[in-house]
Amino acid sequence: MDAKTSQTQGRTADEHSHLVRPAEMEWQKTRFPGCEAKTLLFDKKTGLMTALMRFEPGAVLPDHEHVKIEQTYVLEGKLVDREGPASGLEAGQGEFVWREPGSRHSAWCPEGGLMLAEDAAGLEWLRRKSAMERRWGIESHVLGANELRSLAPALSEHMAGADLVPAEGYGDPLRGTMAVLQQAQRAGARLLRGAEVQSIERNAAAWHVQTTKGLVIAGRVVNAAGPWAAQLGRMVGLELPVTGTVQQVIVTEPAPPMMKHLIALANRHLSLKQQASGGFLVGGGWFGGFDPASGRTHNLRRNIEGNLWVCARVLPVLRSLSFVRTWTGINPAIDRAPILGEAPGLPGFFNAVSANGYTLGPIIGRITADAVRGESVNAHYRLERFG
Ligand SMILES: Cc1cc2nc3c(=O)[nH]c(=O)nc-3n(C[C@H](O)[C@H](O)[C@H](O)COP(=O)(O)OP(=O)(O)OC[C@H]3O[C@@H](n4cnc5c(N)ncnc54)[C@H](O)[C@@H]3O)c2cc1C
Repeated sequence: MDAKTSQTQGRTADEHSHLVRPAEMEWQKTRFPGCEAKTLLFDKKTGLMTALMRFEPGAVLPDHEHVKIEQTYVLEGKLVDREGPASGLEAGQGEFVWREPGSRHSAWCPEGGLMLAEDAAGLEWLRRKSAMERRWGIESHVLGANELRSLAPALSEHMAGADLVPAEGYGDPLRGTMAVLQQAQRAGARLLRGAEVQSIERNAAAWHVQTTKGLVIAGRVVNAAGPWAAQLGRMVGLELPVTGTVQQVIVTEPAPPMMKHLIALANRHLSLKQQASGGFLVGGGWFGGFDPASGRTHNLRRNIEGNLWVCARVLPVLRSLSFVRTWTGINPAIDRAPILGEAPGLPGFFNAVSANGYTLGPIIGRITADAVRGESVNAHYRLERFG
């Protein structure tokens, strides 16, 4: 019930009560990737705000300060203070945390990745994997069957356990790639879209790159053509041991939210995640087909069936879902490591090629930028390792 004060005197209930319907509001992006908000109340004068926040798994709200008191009630999932004085403080579903004025912290959603084991041998392998991760400073926990069931109840009860790595996660490549592109443009990158490189020649101190949209002259060139990197290498007389493999991915119809982790399996090919839309994305390195005459890729029915068979062992609900589409793409195939750094005997010509270009993209970008500026690249990643 509203109490009448002198300011509200004479106003109707409609005027001083403000009904907000969050279900009808759109999630608004914040400036932090993966963090979205629905603002329920915002008072410009005092900065008072009440908002629903939604974090994608692994999303981080970087170090920030609250001038006034902050109150958080966790509706679903888990929120952890990663840095600052409250580091490690964890609030779970139905819990409430409040912070005094002036508190600093960075908060994140630690759903992470689960690699599952189907039997004792698989779990033993995961224990060794987890020990290695911890040796390299990566947080990793081996979970038994019961712990796994309470953490992710949608998974099959036949799983023997899992390795949980909270820092693992997944991103939306469409949104992620566009975000990186926009940042690059903001930092001064210029694009020449739809320009096919036809030849690359050394001309005195510069590289002349002939494209279908004209000549580009540059002191340094980075070959980042993925599965086609060998073709570009040949333009400068370089033999790159890079080929391509066709991989396929399956998407199911939307289902109610039930899986927040990125799921993999210790002894079989599987990668599984539930998207914000509710659909499951199923993959894990199952091959598609390739037609050398046309250069086109296509799905292979037997591999769709195999992939779904593995997936249903892990997530039984999949048996009752229809899959709505599949697609293929070509992935660079090298040995197990990327090829980075300046090519031997070709000053100013760099390679940046990786079979895990999505996961490793940021670090490969960093190493390549440093290499272009003259820093050395670890011998494990250089072309010279092939002898
Ligand atoms: C189905 C599938 C699932 C995957 N899942 C994962 C995953 O979960 N995690 C992960 O880390 N990785 C994953 N990958 C691998 C990842 O997508 C690749 O490693 C990554 O895309 C490589 O990035 P890139 O920029 O080096 O090459 P690409 O993305 O292949 O880009 C190369 C670009 O070079 C262009 N190009 C080629 N020749 C020329 C030319 N002559 N002139 C001009 N341009 C040219 C091409 O058009 C293309 O745009 C997956 C791949 C596939 C196919």
